[in-house]
Amino acid sequence: MGMEKTSQFKALDERYYMPAFSRDIAIVKGEGSKVWDADGREYIDCVAGIAVCSTGHCHPAVVKAICDQAHQLIHCSNLYYVPHQGEMAQKIVEITGMHKTFFSNSGAEATDAALKLARVRTGRKKFVAFTHGFHGRTVGSLAVTHKPSIREPFEPLGIIKTFVEYGDVDALRKVVDKETAGVFVEPIQGEAGVIIPPDSFIEGIREICDETGALMIVDEVQTGMGRTGKWLAMQHTGVTPDVVTLAKGIASGFPMGAIAAREGLEFKKGEHGSTFAGGPLACAAALATIGVIEKILPDVSRKGARFADGLKKYNPRVRGLMIGITIGDKCPEIQKKCAEQGVLINCAADGNLRLVPPLTITDAEIDQVVRVIDGAIGQVML
Ligand code: PLP
Repeated sequence: MGMEKTSQFKALDERYYMPAFSRDIAIVKGEGSKVWDADGREYIDCVAGIAVCSTGHCHPAVVKAICDQAHQLIHCSNLYYVPHQGEMAQKIVEITGMHKTFFSNSGAEATDAALKLARVRTGRKKFVAFTHGFHGRTVGSLAVTHKPSIREPFEPLGIIKTFVEYGDVDALRKVVDKETAGVFVEPIQGEAGVIIPPDSFIEGIREICDETGALMIVDEVQTGMGRTGKWLAMQHTGVTPDVVTLAKGIASGFPMGAIAAREGLEFKKGEHGSTFAGGPLACAAALATIGVIEKILPDVSRKGARFADGLKKYNPRVRGLMIGITIGDKCPEIQKKCAEQGVLINCAADGNLRLVPPLTITDAEIDQVVRVIDGAIGQVML
């Protein structure tokens, strides 16, 4: 299938690339929910670039939008009005219910933008985030990411923050005060392994933010853009945040992120910027992506329910097509077995299997994934 065999990828990677990742598969082609590796093996992809390729791999509408725009104009700078940027901004405002948006190139940069916006508009310096939360790896976003093993080697990171147990409203009430600029929260924790909190937790954060004037900043980088069966996971609750961050599924794999904020919260001239963010190709890819998701969104919850039913003996946590199963130490072995049998899944933190397949996945593919996972768990856990 591919021009290069996996062994050639491995040799170059080991010799020339800094070894920050552990990996052993070289994916060279994708179509819909399927991908193929360099040795021609086929997989159903329930990783999907970690919740990125929501429209499936190489969706024809997205490919066409990128190619058409590439022939017209690849880049021009935010010194000028940018093709498709305005329409894309309008879409983000419509789907989030926020007032205005600003683009970035990644989720971490969206977190950074939210940190800056909260600092500059509230005039406050302190932040609160939650245990097991993940908001990115830049210096700013890493500061509010909890996982000590990835954050602590880089401290001090220059952001004043406190971590509170995810789900604990009383503990939050004790630390948020009139000096708190913002509270960062994932409505469902993704990297932690698909941890779904009760609505009362989300409602409690809103109440505490209202009492203190801290901004409620909801990280929808992984949960947004239809992943949970609604445009935002927050839309399953009755709560409206002050700021929302997006990335991952926003442009089907073309790098892009965004923040959207309520009225009264916007960057003023010179307060923020980026060479690439909101460029013509990203916006074209994102608009095409949204067009596809608009059509498939009504079916996402039903597909999630099919997974939930197929995997019910493992007590999965399911919200749309975001699925977590607690496995424990054997998680990597199950991941490996599934790959051997043609299904890509991955282990998030704490022994949790995570499935975030394309939103376009078919019922037959779901049933095949369920059979493979069931078989792998059976073999490994014996
Ligand atoms: N926020 C959440 C909830 C994420 O899951 C991630 C990435 O996994 C990020 C932020 C960072 O996004 P990126 O890797 O695009 O910088």
